[in-house]
Amino acid sequence: MGAWAIGRAPGAVFLDRDGVINEDPSDYVTSWASFRFLPGALEALSFLTAHAIPLVVVTNQGAVGRGLASREAVDGLHRRMRQAIEDEGGRLLEVLTCFHSPQAGCSCRKPAPGLLQEAAARHGIDARRSILVGDHANDLEAARLAGIRSIIVLSGRTVGQQIPLPSGCIGVYRDLLSVAHWLIDDSHLVSDEACGTPPALTQYAVE
Ligand SMILES: [Mg+2]
Ligand SMILES: [Zn+2]
Repeated sequence: MGAWAIGRAPGAVFLDRDGVINEDPSDYVTSWASFRFLPGALEALSFLTAHAIPLVVVTNQGAVGRGLASREAVDGLHRRMRQAIEDEGGRLLEVLTCFHSPQAGCSCRKPAPGLLQEAAARHGIDARRSILVGDHANDLEAARLAGIRSIIVLSGRTVGQQIPLPSGCIGVYRDLLSVAHWLIDDSHLVSDEACGTPPALTQYAVE
């Protein structure tokens, strides 16, 4: 695991929030009362933390820009989320949120890469040694634009749609815990080349 930090800037695991860490219902999750961790997510975060992997959440919360929730409410939710993660032994380096509406044309709402680039610059994270875990094509596209490889998980609402996978998407997994075990147990991310290319990943669809 030391390979993450030997001689170069370390890599990080970037995480989308809804559909990766917590359940993604049909409406916005802007309060702790409506926040539900997905099965295995807390375990995955503590497992990665135990292996000294920096974890950064990058999330679109357009409800704020649409006037459906306050920024303070979403920030408060994230404080509760981080505390709950820490209570289970995990630690998030940072939670970066785009509060803008989809129409705002900002540079931080995924699929724009702004949040990823901001986090990488601030924390000295090497994009080439990092992975993003998302459940939506917009996550994967943001990663591609930031030069970060990506993994898609099927624990979100995107399941059932056919997702064109961009270059740089190196795997499809059931959920975050499966990704964590793949990363750690199989010693992936030890070099820029280590991940390889899984078979038949030009498109993925589930019933
Ligand atoms: Mg999502
Ligand atoms: Zn934004």
